[in-house]
Formats: sequence, C-alpha cells, structure tokens
Amino acid sequence: MSLDAVLSRIDEMLPDALERLSALLRIPSISTDPAYKADCARAADWLAADLAGLGFKAESRPTPGHPMVVAHGEGPSSGEGRHLLFYGHYDVQPVDPLELWHRDPFDPAIEETPKGRVIRARGSSDDKGQLMTFIEACRAWKAVHGTLPGKLTIFLEGEEESGSPSLVPFMKENARELTADVALICDTGLHEDKYPAITTMLRGMVKEQVTIHAADKDLHSGMYGGAAANPIRVLAKILAGLHDDSGRVTLPGFYDDVDELPDAIRAQWQKLPFDHAKFLGDVGLSVPAGEQDRTPLEMLWSRPTCEFNGITGGYTGAGFKTVLPAEARAKVSFRLVSRQDPGKISAAFRAYVRSMLPPDCTADFGPDDGNSPASVMEITDPAFEAARAALSEEWGLPTAYVGSGGSIPIAGYFKSVLGMDAMLIGFARDDDQIHSPNEKYDVESFHKGIRSWARILARLA
Ligand SMILES: [Zn+2]
Repeated sequence: MSLDAVLSRIDEMLPDALERLSALLRIPSISTDPAYKADCARAADWLAADLAGLGFKAESRPTPGHPMVVAHGEGPSSGEGRHLLFYGHYDVQPVDPLELWHRDPFDPAIEETPKGRVIRARGSSDDKGQLMTFIEACRAWKAVHGTLPGKLTIFLEGEEESGSPSLVPFMKENARELTADVALICDTGLHEDKYPAITTMLRGMVKEQVTIHAADKDLHSGMYGGAAANPIRVLAKILAGLHDDSGRVTLPGFYDDVDELPDAIRAQWQKLPFDHAKFLGDVGLSVPAGEQDRTPLEMLWSRPTCEFNGITGGYTGAGFKTVLPAEARAKVSFRLVSRQDPGKISAAFRAYVRSMLPPDCTADFGPDDGNSPASVMEITDPAFEAARAALSEEWGLPTAYVGSGGSIPIAGYFKSVLGMDAMLIGFARDDDQIHSPNEKYDVESFHKGIRSWARILARLA
C-alpha cells in the first residue's frame, strides 16, 4: 500500500523533520521590523532551496516588501488528480516582551510539558510549523515514490504578520501562474484543541463611522439645556434602535441575502462539542447576547452582526462639565455572512441614520475603511468531502466544516482575485500562544499534521 509506506516514512522521519523545522525557526523573520529584512529574505531562500531539493521549480521572488516563495511541482505523468495550491507564511510576529520568554525565541527546543511534547520558538505554530507539515508530507511522498504526488504549487508569503501589502498586487500580476483547482491554507487550528476541522465560511466586514452634528458650538446645559438638541441623545436613540429585543438587527433588508445553514452543516455543528458556558465564562460572561433563536456557534459563524466599537462626545475627562456637545460620534461595524453585499448594508445603515435625525441635526459618514464580503466555499466540490474523510481517518474523530467569526483575508483573495475556493486546514491549539511570549506547537500536531496532508494528497493530488 503506497499511502501506508508514506505514513511509515513520516513516522520514521519525525526527528529529522523537527530538525528541519528548527533550522527554519532559527531565522528571525520578523516582517514588520525593517531591521529583520535580510532575515526575511534568508527564510525565503531557505524554503526555496528546500523545495528545490524536493524537485520543485522553486524561487524566492522579490516584491516591494518581503519576497514571495513560489514553487511548482509535477507528479507522475499519468497523474489525473487536481492541481493544488498550498499557502502558508514564513514571517513571524515580533517577540516583545522578551523577558517573558523562558528561552531565546529563535533558539527552538523540544520541551516536555504536562500536555505532551512541544517545540517552542517564535513561529513554531504561526506559521512555520504549520507550513512545514505540508512540505514534510511532500518530502515523504517523494522519498517513497520517487516523485511528488501530483501537480502542486506552493505559495509562501513573508508579509502576513504585517498587513500583506504586496499580496494582492503579486496575485494579480501572477494570476495565471497561481491559479489552481483548489487552494489549501494552513494557518488555522483544531476545533476545541482536538477535532480536525475545515473552515469553509468566513465572515466579511462593513465599518461605519458616523458623526451627529447639532448646534454649531458646544453649549452650557444651564443656558441651553431643554431647548437645544443634544447629539449624544440623538446618537444613543439611533444606536439603541439597531437591535430588537430578540437580538435581531432591525435595518430593513439586513437579512435578505443571509442563507440558512444547509441541513448537513447544521447537523455537523450540533454534534461539535462547544462549551459555550466555558467560552463565555472565560471572559466573565454567561448568557449569549445574539439572536435568541440561534445557537452560540451560529451566532459566531453563520449569522451577521451589528456591533458598536466606540462612542464619543461631550466631556469625558475627570470631574464634570455640564456641556451640550456640538457633535457625537460612533464607530459601528457589521460582520457579514452569505451573500450580504457590503455596499447594500452600508447604504441601509446610512439611510436608517438619516431617517432618525430630528430637526437641526445632520449626520456625516466616513472615512470608508476597507469593507469586504463574506467568503463561503463551494463545498459541493468533491475535493472537500475527500479532505474531510482524510482528516477523520487520521485523527480518529469526525471532521466538521466550520465557520470563522473573523475574516482571514487570504481566503477571500483566493476567491475574489483568482476565483479559487480554499480549504483552511490547520492543526494549531488554543494554547499555542501565537503572537505572545513562549509560542509553541505540539509535536503531535506537527506529526499528525504531516500525516493528514499525506492522506489528503493521496486522495486529491
Ligand atoms: Zn498566521
């Protein structure tokens, strides 16, 4: 059995794979700090050389920022599988505050912990450990079969932790070369630290800044209070009107383009362990505050939101000043799902605000700040079921299609720029301390991650 041979090879090679990961982790590729520019280039070169050694045509390509690594590999000539594109990022977050690390962040070591063995270093989980799971699966395949499993493109970014300024221009300039049948993104985690998952729904975002104006200057409430319009009162009424008592957003048409969950996905989510009491308890809360006829997972993954992120106006310093302010401001954001159109939601919000203005009050909006639609992957593509089966087999647990409450921009770009659906598959755990001191990646995540990709490649490539 050819897959069994690859899996055995992965088991045997684990110590060597950890050594290779350690070599990559020793390169301090902090993308946001110009002092590490040469190190970012060195990490890209290291990866391009490693991939070239596996038979990929691999290059570190310059951008105005840090380089992109692009590698193309071919499988056996008879291969009839899909062309897969794998994405990861080789840059890491800064390490401050350094004194909170119990070892040098760029001197990785394997540590025994009560929860098992971990490799500790900046980038061990986010994202060098994760991206190396895929490369190690390719290496084991090549060692056993003499070729890669199929047509593969590997695309590794070096600016993910610093806003990805070069990503979309690079994707547009190289669209033909980077377009494959499906994208694989390894930068997410296991569900509840244990269950394999494929993220297929990511919420989008609309950000609105509104200023309500009334009198042409601040007034004294002793002289004008009672007679003058107060923009804070107007704003408070506007914001309070955006939700009804059951937690639904009241904007006309807000739910028009929100799809109900397919029954199969609903059934998967019902079986997913999710301890919402602990989830809320961890932050000092107890009662889910969203739409009352929805489960907490639906509130987080498949339902849209309207949230107030900041509100200012009047006097907010120490003591008291009985001012009637000339203006009041709020920042309001919407998380979008399904087919909700950012432009339509923005227009509905602004029309609602204007409809609520009493005489003498006006509203300004903006500046606009990068709205994006939700990403929903086409899971009817059989590749998704094949990957799900492969993950369930490796982990011995059912694999669910899950949502992500936040946005993961790269998945949206693959869809909007290259027209590709993406599977987000990752093996990080909640306590990996990514972006924080003492980041680690479980050796089990690394090992089973490599085996997972081998099983996925066997089915898809
Ligand atoms: Zn990451």
